[in-house]
Parts: sequence; structure tokens; C-alpha cells
Amino acid sequence: MKKINIIGAGLTGPLLSIYLARRGFDVSLYEKREDCRISSKYNGRSINLALSERGITSLKEISLYESIKEMLIPMRGRMIHQVDKELDFQVYGNDKYDCIYSVSRIDLNKKLLDLAESCGVNIRFNMQLSEYNLKSNKLDFRGEIIRDAFPIIGCDGFSSTVTNAICMNGGHEKKIDNLEYSYKELNILPLNNNFQLDENALHIWPRNSFMMIALPNTDKSFTCTLFLPDRGKNSFNEIMNQDRIESFFKNNFPDIIPKIPNYVEQYLKNPVSSLSTIYVKKWYHADKACVLGDAAHAIVPFFGQGMNAGFEDCSVFNKLLSNFKGDWSSIFMEFQYLRKDNCDAIAKMALENFIEMRDHVLDEMYIMKKKLSAIIERRHKNRFVSRYSMVSFHTIPYKEVYDRGVVQDNILDELISNGCNSNNLDFDSIDKLVQDKLNPIYE
Ligand code: FAD
Repeated sequence: MKKINIIGAGLTGPLLSIYLARRGFDVSLYEKREDCRISSKYNGRSINLALSERGITSLKEISLYESIKEMLIPMRGRMIHQVDKELDFQVYGNDKYDCIYSVSRIDLNKKLLDLAESCGVNIRFNMQLSEYNLKSNKLDFRGEIIRDAFPIIGCDGFSSTVTNAICMNGGHEKKIDNLEYSYKELNILPLNNNFQLDENALHIWPRNSFMMIALPNTDKSFTCTLFLPDRGKNSFNEIMNQDRIESFFKNNFPDIIPKIPNYVEQYLKNPVSSLSTIYVKKWYHADKACVLGDAAHAIVPFFGQGMNAGFEDCSVFNKLLSNFKGDWSSIFMEFQYLRKDNCDAIAKMALENFIEMRDHVLDEMYIMKKKLSAIIERRHKNRFVSRYSMVSFHTIPYKEVYDRGVVQDNILDELISNGCNSNNLDFDSIDKLVQDKLNPIYE
């Protein structure tokens, strides 16, 4: 039985280990932290995540989806909170079943670990890979050495030791683009055993140069994530003491204050974490090592796609195992070929969505385009689909989503510049433009 070593038992590592174990590989999975099913110390990033179609597809492939359904809370759209205005609900898709799901990171992690173990994966916790020598195939876990270890698959996240070894060994570039924004989480507890906000929405407090979002949890609490610039006005650097925190919340998030009575205490206590996009030029080395998930393509979280993209990686990788039986260098090379452009495209869309969420959702032109777009989408279901829907409710490759999004945006600009809008529809022009410029998505 061929032995495979996977580094990192976050979200992507256990999922990949299940695919591999089911194919009969002898899989060992090494994780630097304690077992989160035993330890109360879980210091993974973000308490909850949005799971959407790409992630769901992979979870269905390993037959885990049915058993995690009870952990999922559907979110059908964005609930916009403006200061001194009514709440505004912007539905995500055109189909009533279109929704993304809030899920607890640790609960999903535990389910994946349980299934991996039941498939025969040997999981070793408290094993931090400190050095990986690609030339001698030697893994050093802070003194515990494993020799002749290949292939190695790095699922060890954005500061991956495996990625660093591949880049250093081949002189390849790894570029870290810091967003110069960071985030801090705050918790809205349930009130009288009830959610304090609509639980079937992703809540956004857009404030132009910064924003806060909140996702529901199954215990009826919400996890808020506050995104602020690192420096300058309204930054984490500036909002540092009780007076400043109080005035900042009173001016910007007055509806949050009664929902989080101890917001000052939480703000002062909870950590600030940075956000970056990571571009890795080469994801593999010969037939020795390859990286997946954040280790290959960490992105900013504004499209809710990092984990979903990592899960999609595992599904693509699994299919390549059938196509290139045992030929690891071809599997790795083809994997990067199929995924790199797509992951670069979602990285770009995630950055663009940050501006959309914190700023454009309030913009009149944006709202006008959204309304027109929804009408065209209902009329041309198989050609004109919003970028958000293509990313979240379909599995169309991200690069194609990006390119179709550009064409669709040009169509909207052209129609609007000719005086067309949701109250003044020119269906002849709409139909012609859509049919001329967009191929059907599905034949
Ligand atoms: P990780 O989850 O980071 O796991 C890596 C694992 O490797 C960890 O367990 C780590 O302990 C271990 N490890 C690291 N180094 C070593 C080593 N040297 N030796 C051994 N083990 C090691 N994605 C979504 O799809 N939807 C969302 O809504 C969403 N929201 C997000 C919100 C925030 C604030 C952030 C920061 C991210 C969000 N993401 C979201 C992205 C998502 O968290 C990541 O894309 C996902 O966790 C990547 O999974 P991974 O397994 O590749 O890496």
C-alpha cells in the first residue's frame, strides 16, 4: 500500500486524507495543534464560515454532507444595517433555494477528523513540521525525523512549511500581499434563548472605508467580524482605549451596542488578525511534494471562498488520481495547471468583493445595476448569472466566472448608458446583447 504523508489537519488536510484513504492509500496526517476533539484550546481562525456549492459538492463526494446538515444555518441574502435607516434585505440568488450556509469551523473540523479516522487515516497531533528537506525526503517534526517520506502533501495553511520548502528549493517566488486591513471578532449572545438578529441572513454594516459582518451560530449567537484599516482614521491603531471604542461604536454601530452590552471589554480582549492574499508561483516539486488549500492560495475572506476553494482542490486532485494512476509528477503538474488560474481569479474577486461589501452596496449605481441584473438573470437563466451566484451556487470554474462577470458588467454599462433601467426596459436590446456576447453556461 502506497504511503502518503499530509501535513496539516485543518479543513483541507482531513478532507484530502479521506479521498486518499478511500482509494486504498496508507495515509498519515500530521497536525501541529492538539486534537480539537479533546482540547478546549482551539485557536483556528474565524469561529464560523460560509459554506457554499463548491464545498458542498466535495462533502457530498465523501458522503459527509448529510451528516453535517444539522450544523448548517441557511443565509438567503445580505441584511444591510445603515445608521438611522431601515434594514435592507438583498436576496442572494434568483432561485428561492439559493443560499449559503453558516457553519462552525471547529464542528466541521471535528466531523472531518472523525470520518478520516474511521477511513483508517493515522492522525498524529502535536506534530509540528519544523523542517522539510526536499533533497533527502526528510521530515523533521521538532526532532522526530521521518525519512524517505514522499509524496508529501502540504495542507498546512497560509504560512505553510511545505510551500516554503518548495519555493526555497527551486528559487520560486511566494508573494504575500498584505491587505493593510485586519479583523477582530465579537460575539452577540442569544437573548431569551433567541437570535438577536434575523438568523437567515449574513448581516453587513457597510461604512465605506471599513465594515462589520455577522454570521449566525447554531447556539443562537452571532459571530461579528469587524474589519478596520491597520492605520489612519477609524483604524485598529487609532481605536485603542475605552473612550475611543465607545465613541466609534456610538457613531457607527449604534444598533450593536444593546446587543453586545460588554462590547468594550470584548474589543479590548479579542485579538486582531491580519489579512493577506498569498500567490505561490510553483505548487509542487517533481514527484515529491505538492500543496493544496491556503498553503497554495490563501485569499482574503470577502467572498467566503477560501475553504470552498480548498475543498474544490481536493475534489480535482482526487479525479487526477484516477487519470494519472501513481504518476505523481503528472498529477501535481496537472493539478497546478487546472487550479492556479482559477485560484488567482477567486483571489481577485475576493478583493473586489471587499470594496463591494463595505462601500458599493450603498451606491445608487450599484443598486440600479443589481436590479437590472436580476431582471436579465430571470429572462436569460442559462446565460446571464450574477457573479455572486456563479461563485456561490454553481461550480463553474472561477476563471470563467471572472471573465463572464466582466462581459456582464459591460452589458449592464451599455444598457444603462442607453437609458435602460429596471423601470425602463428595452428587451430587444437586452436580448440581443446577451445572446451576442454570452454563450450558454450549460448546453
Ligand atoms: P487551515 O485551515 O489554516 O489549516 C492548516 C492546518 O495546518 C492547521 O490546522 C494548522 O495548525 C496546521 N499546520 C500549520 N503549519 C503546520 C506545521 N508546520 N506542521 C503541522 N501542522 C501545521 N472560507 C470560506 O470558504 N468561507 C468563509 O466564510 C470564510 N471565512 C473566513 C473568515 C476569516 C476571518 C478568515 C481568516 C478566513 C475565512 N475563510 C473562509 C478561509 C478559510 O478559513 C481558509 O481558506 C481555510 O481554513 C483553509 O483551509 P486549510 O486547511 O487550507 O488551512
